[in-house]
Formats: sequence, C-alpha cells, structure tokens
Amino acid sequence: MTAKIVEIFHSLQGEGLFLGQETTFVRFLGCNLFCSYCDTLYARDEKRAAEMTLDQVLSAVSLTAKPGQFVSLTGGEPLLWAKFVAGLGPRLRECGLRVYLETNGTLVKEMAVLSDKVDAVAMDIKPPSDCGQQLWDTHREFLELVKDRAFVKLVITSGILPDEVERAAGLVAGVGRGIPLVLQPASGELAPDMGLVRKYQAAASRQLDDVKIIFQMHKRWGVR
Ligand code: SF4
Repeated sequence: MTAKIVEIFHSLQGEGLFLGQETTFVRFLGCNLFCSYCDTLYARDEKRAAEMTLDQVLSAVSLTAKPGQFVSLTGGEPLLWAKFVAGLGPRLRECGLRVYLETNGTLVKEMAVLSDKVDAVAMDIKPPSDCGQQLWDTHREFLELVKDRAFVKLVITSGILPDEVERAAGLVAGVGRGIPLVLQPASGELAPDMGLVRKYQAAASRQLDDVKIIFQMHKRWGVR
C-alpha cells in the first residue's frame, strides 16, 4: 500500500488545543475543498509529493519522533488516503506514538472505518462564506463519529457571518456541549476585528462549555 506524501517533518504544533507540543507531521497530497484562507496550497502540488509505503513513512517518522508524542496526519485532506491512514495508525501506536488527525470534517464514510485508529481529531467546520458549500449536515455526521476524541476548529475571517458562528456552535452543542470549540482568528488580509471575535466567543459560550480563542502560531514562532 502506498500514499502520496508531500512532506514529513518535526516541529511544534502551531494551532489548536495541543499548541506548542512537539509533533511530527505527515502531510498527504490533495484536498477536496477550496477554502478562502488556505495556507497549504502546495499540498495540491503533485510534483512535491513522493509515493511512499507504510514502512517508508514509519521509518521517516521514527527519525525524529519521541515516545508518547503526537504524529499529525495532515494535508490537504488526509482522509483522501483513508486506507493508508487505517494501516498507518496502528503501526504508529505500536511504536508508542499517538495519532492526531487534522481534517476538514467532510469525508464521513472514510472516517467511519478508522475512527478507532486515531487518538485525537482536530476537525474543522467550514462555513459557506469560506468554502462556498453548505456542509453543516456532513459536519454533524462526521462529528458524531469522533465526538469522544475531537475538538472543533472554526477559522474566524473578516468575512465570516455572525449566523455562521452561531450555527457552528449549535452544531457542536447538538453533538455534545462538552466538545471543545477553538476559534482561530485568520491572519493577514482576512484578519478579523478582535472585538468581534470576543463577541463570537461569548455567544458560542452560551451553548458550549469550552470555547477558546487560539491563534495559529507557527508562522509567528518562525517554525514550519
Ligand atoms: S480543507 Fe484545509 S487544505 Fe483543504 S482547502 Fe481548506 S484549508 Fe486548504
């Protein structure tokens, strides 16, 4: 079995609940969405990808990974390679590593066959203002599958609609009000007004127990 891998590297987790933890990243080729704020467009570039076997990925990961740490399976969208991920997860655990899946939360059938093979899931909610699609029902179905190990991330751009934040919080609350929701302010041209982000946090907190504002940090730290 093989998958197309864009890069494997060791760094600090730059976003989400596990911010700052040492992590080894395995970036898979390709994505099924086109988000307005995507900062990994290079993950679509076939020329940057190498076809690798499970053994080759494990061997590359083991050069830097330390026992107990997370290995982030990211992209692009790693669930486009669901069979490979289903094979890789148990092998990483055998090496004493924890499996962390970063996903756009849309490939429900693929997630259904491997939800017990990952230890933590960072699931994005993509509102229509970001990706041009209505994905609410798909996201709800996806979150049901991983609710015992997931946190949800919502990128807050200057263009997000207040109703979308409200709806995202309601979606998460409908699955479980204890599921953490991370509001991640976009940077650069799409950066939102922080006063508004605080209002979104207060509004979401009426439906959920754990709503945090966490910035993406790896670029500020100067790491990949
Ligand atoms: S889902 Fe992630 S990788 Fe895919 S387009 Fe959106 S931000 Fe980029």
